[in-house]
Amino acid sequence: MLRKAFVPGPEQAQLLDNQDPMRHFRDRFYLQPDRIYLDGNSLGLASRDTEEALLAALDDWKRHGIEGWTANERPWFTLAEELGALQAELVGALPAEVVVTGTTTVNLHTLVATFYRPEGKRTKILADALNFPSDLYALQSQLRLHGFDPDEHLILVQSQDGRTIAEDEIIAAMTDEVALILLPSVLYRSGQLLDMARLTAAAHERQIPIGFDCSHSAGAVPHQLHDWKTDFAFWCNYKYLNGGPGAVGSLFVHQRHFGRLPGLAGWFGYRKERQFAMLPTFEQAPTAGAWQISTPPVLATAPLRGSLRLFQEAGIDRIREKSLRMTDYLIYLIETRLTEAPYCFQIGTPLDPARRGGHVALEHPEAVRIGKALKMLGVIPDFRPPNVIRLAPVALYNSYTELWRTVEILRQIIDQRLFEQYSDQPGTVS
Ligand SMILES: *Cc1c(COP(=O)(O)O)cnc(C)c1O
Repeated sequence: MLRKAFVPGPEQAQLLDNQDPMRHFRDRFYLQPDRIYLDGNSLGLASRDTEEALLAALDDWKRHGIEGWTANERPWFTLAEELGALQAELVGALPAEVVVTGTTTVNLHTLVATFYRPEGKRTKILADALNFPSDLYALQSQLRLHGFDPDEHLILVQSQDGRTIAEDEIIAAMTDEVALILLPSVLYRSGQLLDMARLTAAAHERQIPIGFDCSHSAGAVPHQLHDWKTDFAFWCNYKYLNGGPGAVGSLFVHQRHFGRLPGLAGWFGYRKERQFAMLPTFEQAPTAGAWQISTPPVLATAPLRGSLRLFQEAGIDRIREKSLRMTDYLIYLIETRLTEAPYCFQIGTPLDPARRGGHVALEHPEAVRIGKALKMLGVIPDFRPPNVIRLAPVALYNSYTELWRTVEILRQIIDQRLFEQYSDQPGTVS
């Protein structure tokens, strides 16, 4: 195991930073002095590239007005498709299979409205009990739209340990009553990475369409959505992909479904050459672009162009390699410096790198107050109830030295009982 190679101390952290072939990417980001930002899994940081792309879009608007849709070097009319194609490699898709559109929950709705076709006794949707709440609310409402009671028709695979979901149990729940499966790629709290290839194959053996919410893996973990034959997927662009707060999301539809009628149609899903013929009947684009509904929010989409440049330069495989090395190092430090009394932290993330996304879930009964103390001392994590502090070392901008320091600060918080000054009520946004 890689972790055997680590030793405690700031010297090794510095050495790992010096040897890091990706360390120069850090200079392209806006990092605050005296802050250790470990929340890139919730909101990725701004980069100079992103800023430049946003300003370029603003400039196009200033200079071109309405002509910006077609006349500038970066026509807005094809922006969603163009950035989708630029992103395809990150998720192992063909360029036409990805489009930048909507937001995560809205994309979930459009895709479920397309792929959930209850028939006969196949009426149920299979998901998991640890899923992100928005996804569950959306699935419940989709079932209600079809006149089904979510209590009966939404099957949630339970967790045995409160942290992870066993693939075997998901597969066992793929019965002939299931019409659709929707799962996260990485569980948002524990950071468990599900075996998407295996789950997709198992679903298809049973003729069940399957989709993944890749919000916590896109930009951190490589995918092979096309080769796995995943039916559909969607993800956030404001987390690891650093597209900016509330950035427009992305969706993937496998090529074999092109031509299928989107469940929720709108004019931006129209065949592009004839969209402005303004005909009364819908003719869908022969790509994933068909799943767009509305005019793209150009100013919330454009920053992604700059951000994707960084991903293209770095390459998702190298990003994954560094991310795993960093989470390995962090786990090593937690195991050796934070698990024994009086620290008593636990790791909620699978130790097997193949089952791990980009963050580490650090568990402690005082997690809320410790999280607040961390922020006061300049470390930005986030908190997820009931007891998880999430720490995400992001390959493009975090350093090993920051991880070493974070663990030392956590020790200080416990040693000096600094967390006791804070209330145990989580903030409105945590
Ligand atoms: C972040 C996240 C979302 C957020 O959804 P929005 O519609 O962008 O607010 C949804 N699902 C998962 C799994 C997430 O991680």
